[in-house]
Amino acid sequence: MPGCEHRLPLYLRALVSAERCILCHEGATQGRDIVCPACEEKLERESSWICPKCGAKIRDCICMTEEMEEAGVSAYVKLFPYLSDGSLTSDRLLYRLKLKKDRMLASRECACLSVNLHFALRALKIKPEDCLVTYIPRTRKRVIESGTDQGFELCRAMAKILNCDRAPLISRVPGTVVQKTLDAAERLQNAEDAFDVKNADLLCGRCVIIIDDLVTSGATMSGCASLLLKAGASHVFCASLSHTVGRTAPYFSPDGESEPFS
Ligand SMILES: [Zn+2]
Ligand SMILES: [Zn+2]
Repeated sequence: MPGCEHRLPLYLRALVSAERCILCHEGATQGRDIVCPACEEKLERESSWICPKCGAKIRDCICMTEEMEEAGVSAYVKLFPYLSDGSLTSDRLLYRLKLKKDRMLASRECACLSVNLHFALRALKIKPEDCLVTYIPRTRKRVIESGTDQGFELCRAMAKILNCDRAPLISRVPGTVVQKTLDAAERLQNAEDAFDVKNADLLCGRCVIIIDDLVTSGATMSGCASLLLKAGASHVFCASLSHTVGRTAPYFSPDGESEPFS
């Protein structure tokens, strides 16, 4: 059949080069992006959920959990609400980071997260380049299972975006109870005991940013922040991609997609 030999290679080439969205695996991406326009729009809407405490969009909110305030954290920035039913597009983003070493996705989301972080740092006259970024390490078992530590990937990406240093400052104390098996009050009490500070000589007098993919009660983050402040950090800022919606974090969708948490 004349013509087929020309059309076939073109068709195959198109198939090979058609990049699928890493979140929905359906939509085609544009240019060098890894997320399709439809998912991008959903992410934009999800980061526009409202914080009832300050009235700002979640991506502009710096409200802290009660434990973070007690620990002496300076501000807490986040991008997305998290619902445990996995119904949000941003939930897929977290799963992807948890299961795959995806540096492009990590740096893409850290760039969004850094916008509000810049404002929060500037409010306290702290230069981003003087900060030190760190993360809460997964258990060794988790890292072996998934082949990655999303906290580490986010830490690396954020330090690059802020043009500042990064260091592993937190280590797990072996044998302590896994945080999610405890209730909120127990978690806070347990958090400081479950972690240790390492490389303490690096953090003296420095502003430290702790980054994680997800904050639920904030007890783990607060426990680590408290340890870093006691070890000599001048300030601690917390940052996470998502924050679990609940009684202490009652974010709601402004267009009625979700009811305010009651
Ligand atoms: Zn998509
Ligand atoms: Zn707020």
